[in-house]
Amino acid sequence: MHTVYDLHTHTLKSDGTLTPTELVHRAAGLDVHVLALTDHDVTDGIPEAQIAAEQRGLKLVPGVEVSVTWSGRTIHVIGLGIQHDEDVLADGLAGLRQMRNQRGCEIGERLERAGVENAYAGARAFAHGKILSRTHFARYLVEAGYASDIGKAFRKYLLRGKAGYVRCEWIGLEQCLGWIHGAGGQAVIAHPGRYPMGSGTLRRFLGEFRDGGGEGIEVVCGNNNQNEAERFTRLADDFGLLASCGSDFHGPEQAWRELGRLPKFPAGCTPIWQNWN
Ligand code: AMP
Ligand code: MN
Ligand code: MN
Ligand code: MN
Repeated sequence: MHTVYDLHTHTLKSDGTLTPTELVHRAAGLDVHVLALTDHDVTDGIPEAQIAAEQRGLKLVPGVEVSVTWSGRTIHVIGLGIQHDEDVLADGLAGLRQMRNQRGCEIGERLERAGVENAYAGARAFAHGKILSRTHFARYLVEAGYASDIGKAFRKYLLRGKAGYVRCEWIGLEQCLGWIHGAGGQAVIAHPGRYPMGSGTLRRFLGEFRDGGGEGIEVVCGNNNQNEAERFTRLADDFGLLASCGSDFHGPEQAWRELGRLPKFPAGCTPIWQNWN
């Protein structure tokens, strides 16, 4: 029997909708064997998920998805196998959450000026953990009738250039790699197909990531196709990076992105878990 891995998922501790226990039970029910919990800039769900994983007999990999700014762009770097309460990592993530809160206030003010009533409080009501995400604003915009679905809420209000967009300088790549490695984890570039950069810039990023000690790249993720998977397999090979896979599951309402339902790696990938025990 082959082992099913899903190494990129969220709970309501960040911008997902399930509790850590519900996430683990859903994963177990879908025959996921190895599950990483990788909430945005917070690790609060890990202890609860660990307990549920022990009950259901699946392996829980403690993780986090860190918001990074590299060359003026937001990049997400996943930490896998972290000691989630390690001091430098924990303090660093707390700082990122503070930046998120500050940005959330500004997003709220901007949306109010654009005619969205009650934006900040409305988004807050959707946030069940310590972080405030644009996803929470999107959910409020849908609930309050300003957009008909989450994607449209982003496109109408929250993406770069729109009324509610606030530029944020997250942490640097080197610092992020330091936090993840200091906490004993491996660093993985999340959803490489989702960044607005040409192939030359992407190669420059991959080079800096690898030279800084980064280990892996998501070759297979929730929304990439086979061509992209093959492209990222070649890039992983060029840059000596290991291959990871994750759904980026945020909740059952995203019916097109289910836990553990990922295509196999293209030939030639070396999995990030090759030396895990
Ligand atoms: P934030 O980290 O607060 O800027 O929010 C980013 C999150 O919003 C991502 O992790 C996704 O879950 C979600 N997101 C980003 N862009 C979109 C989009 N175009 N449509 C739907 N969700 C998005
Ligand atoms: Mn998210
Ligand atoms: Mn992400
Ligand atoms: Mn994610």
